[in-house]
Formats: sequence, structure tokens, C-alpha cells
Amino acid sequence: MSEGTRVLVLNAGSSSVKYQLIDMLDGAHLASGLVERIGEPSGRLVHTPHTGERHETVQAFPDHSAALKAVAEELAAEGLGLDSPELAAIGHRVVHGGMRFTEPTVITDEVLREIRRLIPVAPLHNPANITGIEVARTLRPDLPQVAVFDTAFHASMPEYAARYAIDKAVADEHRVRRYGFHGTSHQYVSRATARLLGRDPAEVNVIVLHLGNGASASAVSGGRCVDTSMGLTPLEGLVMGTRSGDIDAGVVFHLHRVGGLSIDEIDDLLNRRSGLRGLCGDNDMREIMRRAEEGDADAGLAFDSYIHRLRKYIGGYYAVLGRVDAIVFTAGVGENAAAVRAAATAGLEELGIEVDPELNSVRTGEPRIISPEYARVAVAVVPTDEELEIARQAFALVHRQQREREESGASKESGAPAKSSGSTD
Ligand code: AMP
Repeated sequence: MSEGTRVLVLNAGSSSVKYQLIDMLDGAHLASGLVERIGEPSGRLVHTPHTGERHETVQAFPDHSAALKAVAEELAAEGLGLDSPELAAIGHRVVHGGMRFTEPTVITDEVLREIRRLIPVAPLHNPANITGIEVARTLRPDLPQVAVFDTAFHASMPEYAARYAIDKAVADEHRVRRYGFHGTSHQYVSRATARLLGRDPAEVNVIVLHLGNGASASAVSGGRCVDTSMGLTPLEGLVMGTRSGDIDAGVVFHLHRVGGLSIDEIDDLLNRRSGLRGLCGDNDMREIMRRAEEGDADAGLAFDSYIHRLRKYIGGYYAVLGRVDAIVFTAGVGENAAAVRAAATAGLEELGIEVDPELNSVRTGEPRIISPEYARVAVAVVPTDEELEIARQAFALVHRQQREREESGASKESGAPAKSSGSTD
């Protein structure tokens, strides 16, 4: 029986693996890192130990197996090897859990088959996640491996929010519905916001704005997601770094029929050459704000479009929730760009939404409230920690199952004589 308190979190992409080793006793990140350009002639591993200097190894990592073995060696060199009895589980970020996986799930052959069956709805992500799982299972076949799904937190959305208004039979046949993504972040941040307010998550309504290179908004009521901006794929919703977000589906037909673009070209256009990058050539908000400040018209338009869409979602989710206790900003842009937070909330005093410019300009990695005390709606900045949330969920599941096994073992032991005495009476 494992007494371990550590969880290794793996986030495998098509040519990269991110990892974090977390001790669940205190949530300490013992080591973290990234292998990138897997399968290319020259790859890179960046390893950051808990204490000490981060270091870089440049070499070829022919596949995910080679990459994970190199990660295991880095960890072993610090006495944190995968063979350590301290390791309780490996937690895997899996992007798409479909309708079936609405909770963290211990990975079995059958679970892996189901995740594979979801590839048609997540062709870019699930294959890489599966590879990560398969390699990790060969490295530690005895260890519980837990899948934590990006879609799971949004499974509580009511049907009228999850359904697209299209023919029901067609939608069902092809599993077309709004699943939502960034779920572990929305879950972690909404709960952390309730804590910041000193309130029980079960009694607060929160609008979460996860603004990274990918971006999504969600409306969370009493700890349950009731709406979110991403859909069948992460393309829907906010203006993002390189994705268009909401768009008239007619644009796709037009570009295909009139513009002569193939479906793959349109996919590439909307996912990788749109959003901020499409509007102004840059997808880094720092650069866009700098250019806009200097009077660059394209950068100014990109910033304004980004903010306009954000405000539409804030207003929409305000109406969905009816009462809003907090609006929270997270991820790269949300945590760092005071100008985005100010512009997204400007002029909404009538709705009880206000930001204190001084509090907004404070730079710190700590969760904080940036609205004045008298404001009806708290505006907050809460750094997200998806890896900690994955580790937490994986650890909780493994422990629960362990306890259940122990209890059923104990009841069998104490039950056996009782039964036999009963049968002889
Ligand atoms: P993420 O996907 O959460 O890592 O966020 C990455 C994005 O955050 C980058 O593309 C930048 O646009 C943005 N970002 C990071 N730092 C800052 C900053 N100091 N100010 C504005 N935007 C930032």
C-alpha cells in the first residue's frame, strides 16, 4: 500500500511534455520542467529544481518515450526518481473527456480505449495525451495513473447551455455539443476566489476569465460551471492569441466556396492565424500594448476587439448568473496585464463592478482583490495552478480508492466469522 505523498503531473502535447512533481503534504512544487521539439533533430529539456538553478539540455528526443526517460533521469539525479516510494500517482492532463469522463479517472486499458475513441472530437490533443499515458505506464506499471480532463468541470452545464441549436439527431450522432476547456483552471481559480473572499464556494457566483494565449470565460454558480465560452473545440469564445473565437459559421462556407480555401486551410486560418495575431501580426499582449501605446492602428484595433469580446462575455455571464459575487482574472494576460483588467471592467459601476487603479497596478504573484471595498462585485486576480489542481484531484482519488479497499478488506475480515457463526446458528 503506497504511503507516498507526491504526484507527478504530466501534460503531453504533440511535440512537448510539461511536468511538475508536487508534494501534496504542503503543495510544494519539488521540480518542474519542459521537453520541447520532440521528434525534431534538436530538442530541448529545461529542468527547474525546487531549489537551485534551472538548467537546459539540448539534444534530440526522437519520441515521447525518450523525452520521458530523460525527465525521469533528471528527477532521479535529485533523488526524486520515478522509482521512489514517495510517489503516490502520476496525474495526466487529458484535454477531452467527452460525455463519459466527468470526474478524474484511474487509467485502465478500457479507459485508455475510451480516450482513444474521443480522438475525432479532439484530434490535436488526445493523441498526444494518450502517448504520454502509454509511456508513463511502461515506466511505472504498478503506479496508479490518473486522467484529469480539461472538459470535466464543464460537464455540469445545463443542457440548454451545452447544446448547439442544430438538428438534434445530427448533433447526437457526431457528439457535437459544447464541452468547454481549461476546466481544471476554472475549477481551481473559482474555488481559490471563494477562499479569498472568505466564503464557501457553494454560496458564491463567480465569472472566471482565463486569459492566456488560449482564453476562455466561465460562469460558476455554487462551485458548478453553468456556462463556458469554449465549445466542441477550443476555437469558440473569446478573441485569443491565434484563434478567432466566436465567428459566424457562414464564414467557413464563404471561404471554402467563394475563397477556394480547403477545410484544412480554414482550420489553420482560424486556429493559428487569427485572433490577435490575425488582427495585428502579434499574439503577445505585451507587444500589442506597447505598439498600441505608440499609435499603431492594427495593434490598437486588436486590443479593442479583444476587450470588446471580453466585455460581451462579462455582461452575458452576469445575466446568466443573475447575481455576481466576483469577477476573477487569471493566466498570462489576466494575471499580468493591468490595462486589460481596467479596460474590461471600465464604466460598469452601474453593475457594481469597479477596479481600484492603485490596487490594479500592484505586481505580485499572490491572489488579490483589486476592487474598492465598497464595490458590490469583487474583482480579483488569482494566479492559476492547473498542475496543482490535477495533482490534488489525482491524489484525492487514489486515496479514496485506497481507503475503500482497506475498508472492504476490514469488513470482510470482521465479517467472515460473523457470517460463519450466523450460518451455524
Ligand atoms: P499563458 O498561455 O497563460 O502562458 O499566457 C501567455 C500570454 O500571456 C502571452 O502570450 C502574453 O500575451 C501574456 N503575458 C504574459 N506576461 C504578460 C505581461 N506582463 N503583460 C501582458 N501580457 C502578458
